[in-house]
Amino acid sequence: MDNHEIFVTQSSMPPMSEYIHEISSIWDTHCLTNMGPKHQALEKKLKDLLHVNAVSLFTNGHSALEFVLEALELKGEVITTPFTFASTTHAIVRKGLKPVFADIKSDDFTIDPNTIEPLITENTSAILPVHVYGNICDVERIQAIADKYNLKVIYDAAHAFYEKANGISVAQYGDASMFSFHATKVFHTIEGGAICTNNLELADKLNHLKNFGITSPESVDYIGGNAKLNEFAAAMGLCNLRHLDDEIAKRELCAKRYWNMLEDVPGVKLCIPPSKVVSNYAYMPVQFTKDFPLSRDAIFDKLAAKGIHSRKYFYPLTTDFLCYRDAYSSESTPIAKEISSQILTLPLYAELSLSDIDRICDIISNC
Ligand SMILES: *Cc1c(COP(=O)(O)O)cnc(C)c1O
Repeated sequence: MDNHEIFVTQSSMPPMSEYIHEISSIWDTHCLTNMGPKHQALEKKLKDLLHVNAVSLFTNGHSALEFVLEALELKGEVITTPFTFASTTHAIVRKGLKPVFADIKSDDFTIDPNTIEPLITENTSAILPVHVYGNICDVERIQAIADKYNLKVIYDAAHAFYEKANGISVAQYGDASMFSFHATKVFHTIEGGAICTNNLELADKLNHLKNFGITSPESVDYIGGNAKLNEFAAAMGLCNLRHLDDEIAKRELCAKRYWNMLEDVPGVKLCIPPSKVVSNYAYMPVQFTKDFPLSRDAIFDKLAAKGIHSRKYFYPLTTDFLCYRDAYSSESTPIAKEISSQILTLPLYAELSLSDIDRICDIISNC
């Protein structure tokens, strides 16, 4: 039997000739960075694709998140969840703000709006929810809470690129959304990220902040940093955009194979997007509940022993990181704590073969 290794993800790449063609004009212009033609073209294309008034590209999603928190001049406390990648919590703390942790919903792992309101104090300035695994948050209820208490809403939409709910682009929600274009994401620029917003003033400020606060050759209006996406990265994005629909279609086939193979396995809970959502099939989270004969850690080890590399994503909760555990308690978010001990993301990428998926699912169903 074929026992080749299977990794949890594999970056998609355009044909090499296409990328070489895309970058060849850079040898004519000598324009390597500083919001050059590739950068401008990509921003324009993303704006149209995501139906949003403004897109500001960044060197990566994390810096985009830090810059938008700074641009919004937030103070005090930001309500978020610990069931996320380190970046979400780190961005809040690194901007001198205090994260306050709400719990998640057990069905789709996004922030539970019921747990937000009790956490609001006079120091709260924003809510930072995460569209985890591309599961779209309860955006209406979150916005209603934000409106009631005059809070900003910034979405960590790193997992939700190009998704829609009820026909509306995910980038439309809140005051701003951050997308990550890291190599492992559904759409990537090798490293990269963006802030999408309908607020043109905010976008303008971000465009200056990411370039040292320079507003014209002789004026610097903001204490900015440097987080500009370079032209080679933007070129990779322009190429990958041409293959986006194909990329997602391939992922969809893989995801549906997993769901068919695993839907009747006792103790296995899948996370299938509701019909109103156009998914990007970014991840394959599978929850191994108490009714499954093996623990999540045991099934992780069993798969690893057969060369299949899944990921305990998200485990541990950010509140259990060494750098946070003295200041926060994961006991205050019991649902997140439980899910994080039961969740595993299985391999999923466009070039994953259906026979590999069958091999993975057979191991799980034969437990
Ligand atoms: C990938 C990711 C980020 C960070 O994006 P980078 O582009 O890697 O900096 C932030 N939040 C979540 C949920 C992510 O998955």
